[in-house]
Amino acid sequence: MSTDVKQPAGLADSFDVIVIGGGPAGYPAAIRAAQNKLSVACIDEWKNRDGAPAFGGTCLNAGCIPSKALLESSELYYRLHEEFAQHGIKVAGAQLDLAQMQKRKSGIVRGMTQGILALFKGAGVTPLQGHGRLLAGRKVGFVAHDGTRRTLSARHVVLASGSAPIELRSAPFKAPYIVDSWGALDLDAVPKRLGVIGAGVIGLELGSVWRRLGAEVVVLEALPDFLTFADQQLAKEALRHFKKQGLDIRLGAKVTGAAVSGNAVDVAYTDAKGEQHLSVDRLVVAIGRRPYTKDLLANDSGVELDERGFIKVDEHCHTGAENVWAIGDCVRGPMLAHKGKEEGVMVADLIAGRFGEMNYKVVPSVIYTAPEIAWVGLTEEQVKASGRDYKVGVFPFLASGRARAMEQAAGFAKLIAARDDDEILGVHVIGPLAGELIAEAVLAMEYSASSEDLQRTIHAHPTLSEALHEAALAADKRAIDSLNR
Ligand code: FAD
Ligand code: AMP
Repeated sequence: MSTDVKQPAGLADSFDVIVIGGGPAGYPAAIRAAQNKLSVACIDEWKNRDGAPAFGGTCLNAGCIPSKALLESSELYYRLHEEFAQHGIKVAGAQLDLAQMQKRKSGIVRGMTQGILALFKGAGVTPLQGHGRLLAGRKVGFVAHDGTRRTLSARHVVLASGSAPIELRSAPFKAPYIVDSWGALDLDAVPKRLGVIGAGVIGLELGSVWRRLGAEVVVLEALPDFLTFADQQLAKEALRHFKKQGLDIRLGAKVTGAAVSGNAVDVAYTDAKGEQHLSVDRLVVAIGRRPYTKDLLANDSGVELDERGFIKVDEHCHTGAENVWAIGDCVRGPMLAHKGKEEGVMVADLIAGRFGEMNYKVVPSVIYTAPEIAWVGLTEEQVKASGRDYKVGVFPFLASGRARAMEQAAGFAKLIAARDDDEILGVHVIGPLAGELIAEAVLAMEYSASSEDLQRTIHAHPTLSEALHEAALAADKRAIDSLNR
């Protein structure tokens, strides 16, 4: 790619920091670097379906935010039908207006992505919309969306190019029938039958949205066990609830092919009984994401990729090429927005000569289904495998007055602590607002709190947070509001 023609006048060519990628890893890095009094440009090439460029990357445009908007709307719709009568509220004639639901979602996305431009303006970050490519010696080739080319230079470059959905070779994307997660968020009608390949976080969230809106949903998962990366007591509880909600989750079902035929998709998969077929109206492929580094690195950039395509970095996200850093989904570690954000903040502080560190042991995970699922630290299976002697406290939301008042008493909070020094090793919550509740456990673990510290902390009554308090007490068989077994 040539980078030496037509450079617009009036813009600086040289910055202290250039960030390539304006998703939840890149834009916080740019803002923190500017807060650290460095001159900063953030380059981002994202364009939405209408062709409009937007900062915010996958998370704001096609991931975290639109999925949570639809999860919230679809949950309200579901509860209106399944729960309101229990509260003594009769509703007649409630109808789904999917166009309005999608419009609300798009409005939220627009507001959030435009908000990043306002944040950049406030912090003094130069936004550059177009493609960035790292050349040798921390030069950056920039091609604006209008084709204008410039060569920029920086003292430091931060790569934050994110990730892209993995395509299943035997079931290639074919809109509007076979779609990725972004396509699944944009359906303009509720499919009668929806197939989802992959019972990971994204597959379960998207499957839940369309199930609640009335689709028959079949989730095909190659692995024989459910949520293998989660605590298995929690995974079992989750599977039970999802099945009750009508999600048809087929484990040990490996998809081997999918083809559009007429207005339907024929899906072939193998399970313990042999080859099976399924016909659906829409198929979502949610088998994971891969690091995205297309046209990002010149051959002599000095940055290396590992065998899976991730940019190689050390524990401080330094690539090994002088003053070149990489953060977020394009480097090792969980593909989560908050992990990328904290890496971005760490790198921007390190560049400014300040202290910066990531505690990868306490990155929380959340699955925004109903009941919600969240955890931090080790699963019971991992603690057991480590050989450390441990104790477990479990508190069911059925015993929480607040959860019952909310008509959301499914699930439990579980705390695992070391028997020797009482260190909290892992906390796992399935239940109402689990993603909010886990923040307390993250803070406790970040500050090396013991389970006794949590036991001695006053929790307001009646709140959901009492479940964590009681789980800590239960670990020493001292729970007050549930039987100690
Ligand atoms: P991205 O968000 O992918 O951003 C990278 C940006 O860089 C993009 O805008 C891209 O266009 C741009 N770019 C790439 N290469 C170049 C280049 N050469 N020049 C210029 N620009 C470039 N995570 C959570 O933590 N919570 C959730 O609830 C959650 N829900 C999700 C739901 C879905 C459906 C999906 C798909 C993902 C979800 N995720 C969630 C994951 C989350 O979206 C990612 O972890 C996060 O977006 C990664 O941030 P990032 O900045 O590393 O990359
Ligand atoms: P995640 O990586 O968490 O998004 O989850 C993706 C899921 O898709 C994993 O649980 C994989 O086992 C599953 N998966 C991958 N390929 C296939 C396939 N061909 N058929 C069914 N499930 C698959």
